[in-house]
Amino acid sequence: MDGMSARFTRSRATILVAVLLLTMGLAAALAYEAWRAERSHSATAERTLRDYAAFAAWEYTASSKSHMYSNILFVFSPVMHEDPLHPGEAPEPPGFLLRKSVREKLCPAEVSPYAFLLDLETGALTFAGAAPSPELQREIHDAVLADLAKYEPDFGYRTITRTTGTKPLSLVYQVKWRMGGTKAAVYGIEFCVRSMAGGAFETVMAKSAVLPPALTKGVPNDSLFSVVVRDFEGNLLYQSPIQYPPSYAAEHALDAYGGLRTTIAINPAIADRLLIGGRPRSRLGLLGALLGLTGVLVTIGLLQLRREQELARLREDFVASVSHELRTPLAQVRMFAETLRLGRIRSERERARSLEIIDQEARRLTHLVENILLFSRAERHQVRLSPRPCLLSAEVREALHSFAPIAAARHVRVVQALEDDTCAMVDVEAFRQIVLNLVDNAIKYSPADGVVRVSLTSEGAVVRLEVEDDGPGIPPADVERIWAPYFRLERDVSSAVAGSGIGLAVVRDLVQRHGGRTGVERRGRGQPGSRFFVELPRSQTIDAPMSPAPSATHAALESIGATESDA
Ligand code: ADP
Repeated sequence: MDGMSARFTRSRATILVAVLLLTMGLAAALAYEAWRAERSHSATAERTLRDYAAFAAWEYTASSKSHMYSNILFVFSPVMHEDPLHPGEAPEPPGFLLRKSVREKLCPAEVSPYAFLLDLETGALTFAGAAPSPELQREIHDAVLADLAKYEPDFGYRTITRTTGTKPLSLVYQVKWRMGGTKAAVYGIEFCVRSMAGGAFETVMAKSAVLPPALTKGVPNDSLFSVVVRDFEGNLLYQSPIQYPPSYAAEHALDAYGGLRTTIAINPAIADRLLIGGRPRSRLGLLGALLGLTGVLVTIGLLQLRREQELARLREDFVASVSHELRTPLAQVRMFAETLRLGRIRSERERARSLEIIDQEARRLTHLVENILLFSRAERHQVRLSPRPCLLSAEVREALHSFAPIAAARHVRVVQALEDDTCAMVDVEAFRQIVLNLVDNAIKYSPADGVVRVSLTSEGAVVRLEVEDDGPGIPPADVERIWAPYFRLERDVSSAVAGSGIGLAVVRDLVQRHGGRTGVERRGRGQPGSRFFVELPRSQTIDAPMSPAPSATHAALESIGATESDA
């Protein structure tokens, strides 16, 4: 690959990586934005639901208060309904407030055994029943006057709840007016909010709408919310039978009426129906999946890119090594052809030698080109084979014969041990290429004066071709990788041995197409080199041998090579 196309590939890769990373970044930013938006929507929805709970608690308290108000309205009816005091008329003593019917409504006897009258004109505080301690009397006096100063009393009653002083104090009082519109006196009694409430909390729960019906759409209170009412001391006054978790809860507190604390919790199961459009649904799972998918896609993209670059590099090396492999025999052919053409030959022997070299190099070129063609067809899935029954020993012998000059040139001895009646269904050309590739490697990687052993045996349904050499062998870690396209051992990449890394890939592809298997193993203990083998399914019959078969039917030991002639 030239510099320009390498630069183009590099800049394309940079752009692709940038786009992939940008995609990942965008997906992450989108996921983060969506997560934030969802959190904000959820927070708003929760706030709204808590606001509803606060509104409901306020409304619940107000309704309870109004029930309590009407519950005890009659207590002060003598004060209310009787005429205002005439000038000079003294207010009636407070004993009427201790009637049984009043006590039942307001306070069990143990809470308030007394009723009081505060004469606003004389300042005198008088009691009916058991008068409290002087300290408490003072507190009652001050509490009533302070409350009167704060509020303009009407004709109803007021309640006071004090948490300070000698004991918690809950008073209910009403003003008695004098003709002419002045306040003459105050009648009062201590009360207990539990008694005063009567069934107020239950009634509100059962009958009152504490949220606008347009919102609740007719859902009954006990499915809508739960309620807990306590007094200011935390004593439980009421709790609804069903209680919901406090996810959307709010409290409303009242200063009067015993300091009611009403807590409302909205039923989370109904929360969706209370919100317009429902609670926001979490899309985090989906976004997470999308982000994960983008991550996977980006990773695949990056891996693919790396693979593409790796392939590009391999192809680059391949083209370089193929050119190198082609160049050497071509140079030889040209040189000897030139010598012949210019008549620089000194003897007949030299002429024969030159022709032999030209022939040998032309064979190498043919073999090389054949390999490249097979490899490129295999890559494009265009290999067409025509298997037919074939005597393999004859084919091996033929192939070795054609390779003899090359072996001779390298001073390598090729020894063959071929079982004669080995027959298999093979494509003859493909089988020859298989043999030649293995033998070529064995010769190439053998030391000078090395020995290459080729054997052909059959066992059961399998025919086995073995090519052994005493070269450097294959490191155990690479016994599989050497069959991959373009792969060359590190030590060979930088060595003088020319190679393109496709020979073994072609062998494996062709063998597999014949339903066989390939492999490489160590030779015996302490022996250098390697043993490449090919196993093919054996076929039992053969109609006519495709190549001239040798006369011997037993395994023959022959040798070809530099020093010995083809047997
Ligand atoms: P090449 O054209 O490089 O020989 P092959 O596919 O035939 O390509 O072989 C792949 C690699 O396996 C070779 O480059 C070499 O490193 C290693 N190899 C193959 N055969 C042998 C052998 N007989 N001895 C040592 N190494 C071998």
